[in-house]
Amino acid sequence: MAAKKLNENESLCLFWYRRDLRLEDNAAFFYALKEQSSVQPIFIFDSDILDNLEDDDKRVTFIYEVLLDIQSALRKKGSDLWIFYGKPEEVFKKLIKDHKVSAVYTNHDYEPSAIARDQRVEKILSEKEISFKTYKDQVVFEKEEVLTDARKPYTVYTPYKNKWLSSVSSFYLKAYPLDLYFSSLNKTSKKSSVPSLSEMGFKQIEFDFPETTLTKQMLKNYEKLRDFPALDATSHLGLHLRFGTVSVRELAREAKKQKSAVWLSELIWREFFMQILYHFPHVEKKSFRPEYEKIEWRKDKKDFQKWCEGKTGYPLVDAGMRELNQTGHMHNRVRMVVASFLTKHLLIHWLEGERYFASKLLDYDLSANNGNWQWAAGTGCDAAPYFRVFNPEAQAEKFDEDSEYIKKWVPEVGTDKYPEPMVEHKFARDRALREFAKGLGKLKK
Ligand code: FAD
Repeated sequence: MAAKKLNENESLCLFWYRRDLRLEDNAAFFYALKEQSSVQPIFIFDSDILDNLEDDDKRVTFIYEVLLDIQSALRKKGSDLWIFYGKPEEVFKKLIKDHKVSAVYTNHDYEPSAIARDQRVEKILSEKEISFKTYKDQVVFEKEEVLTDARKPYTVYTPYKNKWLSSVSSFYLKAYPLDLYFSSLNKTSKKSSVPSLSEMGFKQIEFDFPETTLTKQMLKNYEKLRDFPALDATSHLGLHLRFGTVSVRELAREAKKQKSAVWLSELIWREFFMQILYHFPHVEKKSFRPEYEKIEWRKDKKDFQKWCEGKTGYPLVDAGMRELNQTGHMHNRVRMVVASFLTKHLLIHWLEGERYFASKLLDYDLSANNGNWQWAAGTGCDAAPYFRVFNPEAQAEKFDEDSEYIKKWVPEVGTDKYPEPMVEHKFARDRALREFAKGLGKLKK
């Protein structure tokens, strides 16, 4: 359906894209098109976020390419996508000065800084009596939708998952059919200008990003194969879930259809950590459990650097870190091993590792990264007990028996070019147990 042309006095309704970069099954976009006319989609490259990234950040290229695709599809419908670079508040101030804006529609974002940003934007809009309408989109259940019987947030995964599963119905998984209402798009033949990557301080990266497809085969074998990094038997949809290039409702429907309970449970982990961050925002900077703030972490830049570069002398750890550095991805099993190694073997604060992952992971997501780092360090909700310390060699024997994964990323393993282990396992394990126990007040100093 073609878009409708805006006349001079007609007001514009803005749909603000953020973590929902798609033209199908998008809640806020759907409601904007259904309820309003002259709907103009926009995206803002937030300079506050971009200024903190390296100039070769692959995620910026990914978003940029996706936006150009969306823009081209909208132009074919006689509309456009307006792309801005700057502080969202400033962009909105200019937009409402230059246009008669009736309303702004957008999907919920649950990260503390995004919530604060939305409050600032809402204030600017409300001063001009422009409504700011927000919707659930990036999760099946959000905020207060999955609570204990006492109406409290869950802090343990299994009961959360059980409640999630007993609450879900086709109602929560149905798609929003945007195509029924594309005639409500703002019609324009004028092509808006797009800030270039270099104007925003970034290089164009050539990179093969994973596809959005979820195959039946992958879902069928997931439970059996997911823990073996050499098999690469997981979906690689993390990046797409992060930026919303795929709908979580569609993925959950497919997981249910193929009866892939374990894969569905991964999507539930994602929502579990999102609601943890929403209800307990202190976890962004501090341990979920306050008593873990007393642990005396080591501050050793050289050791941290060896871990970052994959030069610890533990092949599975090094393989994982090199995979991360080269591809922006790391297999989940290996993420657990390297996180345990940093926080237990090296006794370096989980926040350091969390920040390093944040700078490198294509699928970086504050809630999932934070929740999993705290899980590995033993400081989080429903975490592995602190006295469970992964043995990286035993993990390699179990999950990479033929060293296929290790050899792919650390070809010099077994030669004199490969370093000796930077710390002895038993010594490191005993030190971690002692320091954690001391911090938790179980031993006298
Ligand atoms: P699949 O195995 O195919 O799973 C499908 C989707 O389920 C994932 O894309 C993801 O959205 C979700 N998911 C799977 N496992 C988890 C989990 N444990 N917690 C939350 N969501 C999960 N995941 C992120 O999306 N972003 C992160 O920043 C992130 N950081 C992590 C840090 C550490 C230390 C660890 C141990 C795990 C982290 N994970 C993170 C979880 C998990 O490793 C990745 O989601 C997964 O490896 C991504 O690969 P995939 O898309 O092939 O996942």
